Amino acid sequence: MSQVPQVIAQLVAANRILANQGIVDAYGHVSMRHPENPNRYFLSRSLSPELVTAQDILEFHLDGEPVHPGGPQPYLERFIHGGVYEKRPEVQAVVHSHADAVLPFTISDVPLVPVIHTASDMGLQIPIWDIRDKFGDTNMLVIDMAQGRDMAAGLADHRVVLMRGHGFTATGRSLVEVVKTSVYLPRNATIQLQARMLGGSVKALTAGEIAIRSQVSPTATQMWRAWEYWCQLAGTDTGPAPKR
Ligand code: MN
Repeated sequence: MSQVPQVIAQLVAANRILANQGIVDAYGHVSMRHPENPNRYFLSRSLSPELVTAQDILEFHLDGEPVHPGGPQPYLERFIHGGVYEKRPEVQAVVHSHADAVLPFTISDVPLVPVIHTASDMGLQIPIWDIRDKFGDTNMLVIDMAQGRDMAAGLADHRVVLMRGHGFTATGRSLVEVVKTSVYLPRNATIQLQARMLGGSVKALTAGEIAIRSQVSPTATQMWRAWEYWCQLAGTDTGPAPKR
């Protein structure tokens, strides 16, 4: 039986969670790789995530072309998703966000680092990609595959990439994992900023701590527990439970 209806239900729930948690607002988006065809992904039509229903989910080739042409207007920045899926075969889900708390770290030479255990999924190092480096003055948006691929090159093997003056793109081995990373990344940014305001030095998680925490399966029970909670807050169905 096709997993596609399940994946679409989960993707709808992810849209609602990210809106409810303030990670996306009018803008921002979340996608999932097609479970049966790694050369395709699912992403809403151009719509604020709070409003997304199953009928709004479109299927795309990795180059950003819709599988069914002539449909509704897609997101201008869908190339973020294809760029990442093309470069990183293990990535199953991608979030793009403009969350305020992260933005200072996209324009500062003080690096965003993991400082709270709940944000360990962000990884030890978070690169900053600056669209200006390769493309000069632009509207700051990732509007074609060349820009999507360049952003993915900036992401390299990391879990998250910051986008200068714009936001972040996060990756996950599962949809639940990338939602969790995206929820806790802005909180980590706020805590790191607050700790710096106290003066003195700030301690980050170590590579060893991150490695130990990353041993948790992205579909483990404790991940599903968070998903159920966020769905309840967002007033949305959980979608089917991921395979354990
Ligand atoms: Mn954007």
